Amino acid sequence: MYGKVLICDPVDNVMTDKLKDKFEIDYKPKISPQELLEVIKDYDVVVVRSRTKITKDVISNGKKLKIIARAGIGVDNIDTDYAEEKHIKVVYAPGSSTESVVEITLAMMVIGARSLYKGMENTRKNDFTKLKGIELEGKTLGILGFGRIGKAIVDASRTFKMKFIAYDPMPVEYPEYVKKVSLDELMEQSDVISINVTMRKDSPYILNDNELSKLKEGVIIVNTSRARAINGKDMLKYLKNGKISAFVSDVFWNEPAKEEYEMEMLKLDNVMITPHLGAQTKEAQKRIAIMTADNIINEW
Ligand code: NAD
Repeated sequence: MYGKVLICDPVDNVMTDKLKDKFEIDYKPKISPQELLEVIKDYDVVVVRSRTKITKDVISNGKKLKIIARAGIGVDNIDTDYAEEKHIKVVYAPGSSTESVVEITLAMMVIGARSLYKGMENTRKNDFTKLKGIELEGKTLGILGFGRIGKAIVDASRTFKMKFIAYDPMPVEYPEYVKKVSLDELMEQSDVISINVTMRKDSPYILNDNELSKLKEGVIIVNTSRARAINGKDMLKYLKNGKISAFVSDVFWNEPAKEEYEMEMLKLDNVMITPHLGAQTKEAQKRIAIMTADNIINEW
């Protein structure tokens, strides 16, 4: 046996199948933060999704820890700086859920444009009132964060015959049908904005009042990356005054919400939130589990 693995969140069985010949595995998908702090000292590898936080205290108590494996994308629930200081490897599964996130993003764009959510809510009450929306065709889709998912969203939404602009501070490549713009230009020109950025634990908000004030009247904002890309308190004003016609998001600042501004936001008709479902497909979960197991075996 190589070592002991603690799996802290629900993962596809294929992960344990791949690891079981080499590692002793404890599967505790509902482990509490307190229990994690107490038991982490016994493990060489810890596997988490987004629920479990690997804090400085967890890392300090993990005297044998060699690998922290994020079964998914986005390591903002892990204190990566402290892990590095302690020479603990942090691995994740880039690209493993791109297709699933792209599909949910396209659905969210259409939901935002066509009041589908409100319409479905109404018909549950046998209210068949017609609701008018807008077409996506001919509109400008602004991608904030032109990485794997951002690029794949553009490719998938070409069928809508939209115009594409994108902002990314890193030197990424842009196909000829995507115009590279500044953040201000993205705010000013987009009819629909899709947020697809990576955020670290301590990344500052990207969109504050200053940026939000430049938005086009009636813009639709879709976020399938991280809520902290936007200052939620600043955004509330633009949701209430209708400048943002729809905010459709798979991510929230606290999941579940607990701050007053979050509670207020959840009650607005133009706010539609899903409970972090982006990577929640059988296919993505299988790919994530395979890639995570391979990461652990390769890094051991
Ligand atoms: P990626 O690393 O390939 O691309 C992210 C891009 O964001 C990079 O090009 C980076 O330069 C850019 N970026 C970083 N800071 C920025 C800023 N301030 N302004 C503009 N661009 C910025 O990552 P990806 O695989 O495309 O994933 C994107 C996001 O989607 C991640 O945050 C990930 O956590 C999230 N995600 C969410 C779900 C879900 O369940 N909803 C599932 C998978 C991924």
